[in-house]
Amino acid sequence: MIKLFSLAAKRIFSSAYYKSNLSLGRAVKPLFINFPITYLCNSRCVMCAIWKKYNSAFGEIERKPQDELKLKDIADFVKNNKGFLSDLKSIGLTGGEAFLRDDIVEIIRAIHQELPWVDLGVQTNGLLPDLIKEKIVEVLKFYPNFKIAVSLDGLDVVHDRMRGINGAYEKAMQTIRYAKELGLTGITCGMTLTVDNFDRIQEVAQKVESLGCEFSCFFAEKSEYFGNKQGNRAFSAQQLNTISGQLEKFRHHYFMDNLRLQISGTAKRTLPCYSGYTSYVINPYGDILPCILAEDSFGNIRQGLFMDIVSSDSSWQIRKKLKTCKCWCQCEVSTSAIVMPFDVLKWFLKSKDKKKIANAFNKKILLNRL
Ligand code: SF4
Ligand code: SF4
Repeated sequence: MIKLFSLAAKRIFSSAYYKSNLSLGRAVKPLFINFPITYLCNSRCVMCAIWKKYNSAFGEIERKPQDELKLKDIADFVKNNKGFLSDLKSIGLTGGEAFLRDDIVEIIRAIHQELPWVDLGVQTNGLLPDLIKEKIVEVLKFYPNFKIAVSLDGLDVVHDRMRGINGAYEKAMQTIRYAKELGLTGITCGMTLTVDNFDRIQEVAQKVESLGCEFSCFFAEKSEYFGNKQGNRAFSAQQLNTISGQLEKFRHHYFMDNLRLQISGTAKRTLPCYSGYTSYVINPYGDILPCILAEDSFGNIRQGLFMDIVSSDSSWQIRKKLKTCKCWCQCEVSTSAIVMPFDVLKWFLKSKDKKKIANAFNKKILLNRL
């Protein structure tokens, strides 16, 4: 409990710094980067169309895999922007399927060499367990703190159906087993909720916990990034009710508890969004975006220094445009909550599960993986 308050006090102090710079229109050094390094994907998920981006059967291909950033572009980016990235806490490599990049180990090495203080992890669909194991072994030789997150949308055939691949569940399980055998800690499993798996939250959570991994669930999103701007089938009121009931078990988890409160109409988002200010998305072509849901690009990492790009007048116009938008998208919420902890503190003080929250915090869940 004392640890919780002392960390909260530190966060409150730094949040004043971020808040004042934002109101003065001054860009600050980023804290988080979400970095999809390829749109290539070997899955066929029902809730995401990234896997269709390079398939002409689904329409015109606007940009090709050859247009994606090369290893040198990424290495130059971290080298040339080292000063501006000095406060960076984490880079999450994702995709598509990030492990489909032959040079993924070299990408991690290049980032780690320039920014050794930064936490690096890869989010994967786990469909290539042997290849992933091989790459993890390589990475662990120079970066022992490496982390992975494996998507898990259901047990057995439910996961297979969500991912559109027979045997996807077994492969994801094998990836987790390998990662554990290799000594990886802090493995997380995220469950994407749609009308096809909305009633399976508790069974997936139990499975994930039995494996010693961290569970979280979130709604499927729609955006240019996911290639599904038309969105997924909407939940009925009854389905939302079922989700809300299952989330009761996660009253100690800031993100999931607030998801429950929002869908049951008990609360609205009050957390300010700092995406595009303290956190950014860099897409596989090098475009710097505020988040995975917004479309406007601040600029491209191949065309200038990060600091100059995100300090430009046009970047401030984009931030102005996003001022009123609200979402409850997990990766974006957690980065804003870490920077601006008042909301988390308010939620904590209101909660009847303070002891459980404090325990979860001690397990490094609260501030690392909200
Ligand atoms: S959710 Fe992930 S694994 Fe599924 S299609 Fe999209 S990028 Fe691929
Ligand atoms: S509220 Fe959501 S959509 Fe809007 S900028 Fe923040 S993360 Fe992006």
